[in-house]
Amino acid sequence: MKGARYGLIEAGGTKFVLGVADAERTIFARESIPTSTPEETLGAAADWFSAQHADYTAFGIASFGPLDLDPASPAFGCVRATPKPHWSGTSLIAPFAGRFGVPVAIDTDVNGAALAEARWGAGEGHGSVLYLTIGTGIGGGFCSQGQLLRGLSHPEMGHIRLPRHPDDLDFAGTCPFHGDCLEGLACGPAVIARWGMSLSELPEGHPGKQIIAWYIGNALATFQTVMEPARIVLGGGVTATPGLIELVRTEALAANGGYTVGKIDELIVPPGLGDNAGLLGALALALTSIP
Ligand code: ZN
Repeated sequence: MKGARYGLIEAGGTKFVLGVADAERTIFARESIPTSTPEETLGAAADWFSAQHADYTAFGIASFGPLDLDPASPAFGCVRATPKPHWSGTSLIAPFAGRFGVPVAIDTDVNGAALAEARWGAGEGHGSVLYLTIGTGIGGGFCSQGQLLRGLSHPEMGHIRLPRHPDDLDFAGTCPFHGDCLEGLACGPAVIARWGMSLSELPEGHPGKQIIAWYIGNALATFQTVMEPARIVLGGGVTATPGLIELVRTEALAANGGYTVGKIDELIVPPGLGDNAGLLGALALALTSIP
């Protein structure tokens, strides 16, 4: 393969998606390998990239968390303590930096998606974009003027506390840390824990959709007042439920009591990047490593 190429890794809990692309988002090759042990999976990934015979300029890794993202830390780019067997303390950077000798950028899959949506997707042309994914878990990334918001670690927006919906007071929530934080109340497993099925499977007239939209709307009203993003991009399986985003807009407006800046239909939007969103997140990260 000729020309500047970027090695892309979307590291997930069940599979790693690998890709080779150029800066214009053309994906020349892709592969999916199961997530097993770090030695097996990272070794197979590095072998695959070698076999593509590309002239790599940089790598980008958009990964499951939690990650050590403190550049001053000796464990930068390592998976922090995780219940996932074998992966705690594993460096995701080392196998690629070592073999290919080029910069390796890493961040969470959520931050990668936030950067990609801000750069090429639903947030394109806007200086401030909040990306929130609501699926198996809930995570958020905020991109302002091309820079991701970071503190000691990546933001943990899924774990904010919320008021309780008056018709949902008995459910304890599914978060192992907080019980009824946003994730514990509104992620996919929390929906199934209450009603035994996903939101899109609930029968017509069931109050579940309204309750979940109320929680998401309240959370968005909080994020709006803290960050005032020009766009809030809602990704993930729960928010893909037909009709949910419209309910979320109504609830976010109500929760903010008329304090919302901008038009709600333009403010809260679905993602603009399709099936390649994960790899494009890795590409957006890889491009940040090039001066
Ligand atoms: Zn929590």
